Amino acid sequence: MSDRCPEWPKGLKRTRARLAVWDTLKDQTRPVSAALLFERLLEKHSDVSLSSVYRNLEAFAECQTVVRTTSPDGTATLYGLNTHRNTHLSVCIACHAVRPVSDCAYERAATDITEDGFHVTGHRLELLGYCDACYRKLEKAAPSAE
Ligand SMILES: [Zn+2]
Ligand SMILES: [Zn+2]
Repeated sequence: MSDRCPEWPKGLKRTRARLAVWDTLKDQTRPVSAALLFERLLEKHSDVSLSSVYRNLEAFAECQTVVRTTSPDGTATLYGLNTHRNTHLSVCIACHAVRPVSDCAYERAATDITEDGFHVTGHRLELLGYCDACYRKLEKAAPSAE
């Protein structure tokens, strides 16, 4: 999986709203909620409704062109184009910062078939932990007992 923009899904009609969603999604550097995408979409396209944005995101997700993630606090669904940048994320469990992970050890196995016959078409990676800033705060708050 590369960071190249995925292709428009075959068989999906190019409606104006759908093209607007696609266009805006391409500019996002990390997965975003439908509401945030809608807000950004309005900067260039004023005639699309939030419910239409949501419906079209789901249509892209059905075609695997868009990946869904849950926000770190569990309250929202986030959407991103199916690229490495959006499927390989590190999530800080303290401040909820989400960042792309640049390297991946599993890239080679992306099209393998597992022993039990599972045909792999791709993969997602979510690393949980503390970002550097939060880790430093933790270290200060709880100095090792020496
Ligand atoms: Zn953090
Ligand atoms: Zn990977």
